[in-house]
Amino acid sequence: AIILGIETSCDETAAAIVVRDQSGRGTISSNVVRSQLDEHAAFGGVVPELAARAHVEWLDHIIAQAVAEAGIALKDVDAIAATAGPGLIGGVLVGLTTGKALAASLGKPLIAVNHLEGHALTARLTDGVQFPYLMLLVSGGHSQFVLVRGVGEYERWGGTIDDALGEAFDKVAKLLSLGHPGGPAVEQIATKGDPARFKFPRPLLREQRLDFSFSGLKTAVRLQAEALAPLSEQDVADIAAGFQAAVTEIVAKRSRQALERFRAELPEAEPQLVVAGGVAANRAIAAALETVTREMGARLVVPPIALCTDNGAMVAWAGAERFALGATDGLAVEARPRWPLDAPGMKVDGHAA
Ligand code: ATP
Ligand code: MG
Ligand code: FE
Repeated sequence: AIILGIETSCDETAAAIVVRDQSGRGTISSNVVRSQLDEHAAFGGVVPELAARAHVEWLDHIIAQAVAEAGIALKDVDAIAATAGPGLIGGVLVGLTTGKALAASLGKPLIAVNHLEGHALTARLTDGVQFPYLMLLVSGGHSQFVLVRGVGEYERWGGTIDDALGEAFDKVAKLLSLGHPGGPAVEQIATKGDPARFKFPRPLLREQRLDFSFSGLKTAVRLQAEALAPLSEQDVADIAAGFQAAVTEIVAKRSRQALERFRAELPEAEPQLVVAGGVAANRAIAAALETVTREMGARLVVPPIALCTDNGAMVAWAGAERFALGATDGLAVEARPRWPLDAPGMKVDGHAA
């Protein structure tokens, strides 16, 4: 099936054409992403109202470009998949309403995609990963471990009780005046720093549950920065390195625990850890996850970074997986600002194709 995917839940206006063949293999025919970084840069974060307006302005062009790059016509698509949440409601409404309008005018089915399901299933598109697997989603808005048993079958094993990891990177970057988005900037300057100069806290790390907490760490970083102000370039690098070392240790230890639980609960299954979200781009964290999975005898899957951050292909693919199971949505389906992966109704009732 040929699926158009539309993504507008945050600050990327994105559309893609993905083809899923009979055997369940996916191919990306086009994947167009327009990031709104420039629109929001001056504000040090995403401004929801500006984001929604930019989606309105750009989405039609992005869809047209995705269709053209795929070398097809709009009428050739078999279904339209649009993110219906979770995310910034203004943006979600723009994408979902556009998806509904296209579905209605073309007479094609609509699939209302949970954005997190898009992240969760991407590794099946890129690496053909089989169920079940453990997903670590670490992005600007989410940080969680999810057991992925099948399409629509998710068990949340733990997650952040305050800030998301990408958000923590962004806030640390802001208080070190490194600009937005913070992750790449913090990572870059951390390479010049001494991670041992400051020993930042590792919140919750002694506890056994699979949760994260990053806000206390961020506060410790702020207090350190204030104590040293004005900061030299070396101070900034050392703080960034200390922060990155702390979060890397936290993510590595939690991932080890999560894989131990996977082995205990699913002894028959091959242990697999799939990483999703923009923080997957961080080399220190990726290297730590490589070590953990090697030591645990588990498979590590990190999709290409352009597919880890928000994009239309992941939405098209999640739509394709649902479409193959006969799961489509009516045009009355509503946008949902909050929509956890383990919410009721995620499960597909249909039969396997
Ligand atoms: P969500 O998908 O949860 O709605 P989002 O769209 O903000 O949120 P992504 O686009 O997946 O998330 O990722 C962006 C986040 O990843 C930002 O917080 C950014 O700082 C972080 N990030 C990107 N590159 C790196 C890096 N090299 N190191 C650490 N963090 C990074
Ligand atoms: Mg984003
Ligand atoms: Fe996302």
